[in-house]
Amino acid sequence: MEQTRTLAGEKASPPDYPAATAPSHPVLSAGTLGLARGVPSVLDAGRATHTVSGRMALALALERLGIGRGARVLLPSYHCTALVEPVVRAGAVPVFYALRRDLSADLEDAARKAEGARALLAVHYFGFPQEMAALRAFCDARGIALIEDCAHAFFGTCGGRPMGAHGDVAVASTWKFFAVREGGCLVARGPASRLSGPGLRYEAKSMMNALERAWEMGRLPVLRAMAGPLFRLKDRLRDRRKRGGGGAGAASDVPTGGLEFDESWLGRRPSRFTRFVLAFSNRRRIARLRRENYAILLDGFHGLPGTKALFPALPDGVVPYVFPLLVEDEGVFPALKRRGVPIVRFGEFLWEGVEDPVALEYSRKVLQFPCHQEMTRAEIDWIVAEVREAVLKGVSRCGT
Ligand SMILES: *Cc1c(COP(=O)(O)O)cnc(C)c1O
Repeated sequence: MEQTRTLAGEKASPPDYPAATAPSHPVLSAGTLGLARGVPSVLDAGRATHTVSGRMALALALERLGIGRGARVLLPSYHCTALVEPVVRAGAVPVFYALRRDLSADLEDAARKAEGARALLAVHYFGFPQEMAALRAFCDARGIALIEDCAHAFFGTCGGRPMGAHGDVAVASTWKFFAVREGGCLVARGPASRLSGPGLRYEAKSMMNALERAWEMGRLPVLRAMAGPLFRLKDRLRDRRKRGGGGAGAASDVPTGGLEFDESWLGRRPSRFTRFVLAFSNRRRIARLRRENYAILLDGFHGLPGTKALFPALPDGVVPYVFPLLVEDEGVFPALKRRGVPIVRFGEFLWEGVEDPVALEYSRKVLQFPCHQEMTRAEIDWIVAEVREAVLKGVSRCGT
């Protein structure tokens, strides 16, 4: 069902790459928790409603704005399907506007398509803010709502205000910034939505998934040794339940990134564990290390032929999600995936009907590398070495 709405059937047969050997997103570590706060975030922009994912937050946002059947919504051509699905599920019609090469919204193109639109959604790609004053003016002039998509920009400021403060509503994806495996939020004026708890089984799974992910990545080894017997018991219980049949369906599994849109999660809060980690994470560490790691990657990729950092400067107030690198040689992506390098490729699957050349190019050639707070220096150095080797091999291949 999904494939028919995305491009060119690429999704139908994902190549069989080995699992990444460093975490693409934050995992728990001994440094995760801490009370250093005082970092501006989207939570400062209004009242937050926590959801199980960013796409659920967007679905709630559309509901709040009264956007439903037949309404046109301006969406960026460079996107992930997660931000289109809620629009389509609401019965609204996505209309894709173009982007400039620096990923700012092309408002001239948006203006040509704005007839009958009810809202415009803007993405702060990779954590770097859009020009919100221009977007605000565009929407005000037409009486349409501005949805600020802060999925890549949980922290930071834009024009002296927290992320999310310029939009009528903002949505974010907390699992992209915190060491949890689920979570999004809707931030808006007015009271928060009242959502129900996700259920005991989900509560337990949410915590175990986060711990198991940390252990897979070699974090928290002492805790692992202590909790080993408990987890063996859990596996045994799970096996028994499977044999007995009647296990809960896939819909009750804990959603993580890549979750398909599942309506049954719309009215649900994230787990207590997720909310605990969000509340007690060391936010100053998150902001500081993401910026430091970004700078290390910028330096490491400097001067690499056939590549270009999409954002070669890191302005004050930006807390990056990942490091986006434009790589001309399309053989580099599979080569790195085969080596277990963690890569996020935003926009890999575009909704059908997208014609914007920037989106089409970036969806294939912009590779994103993790710069999150839980990356070790050794992992970052290894990624830099792998990227340099893959790119230089490609260059020598073409040269001979
Ligand atoms: C990840 C993402 C979302 C949705 O996030 P989920 O938490 O995965 O549902 C929305 N918009 C953008 C730009 C994203 O990258």
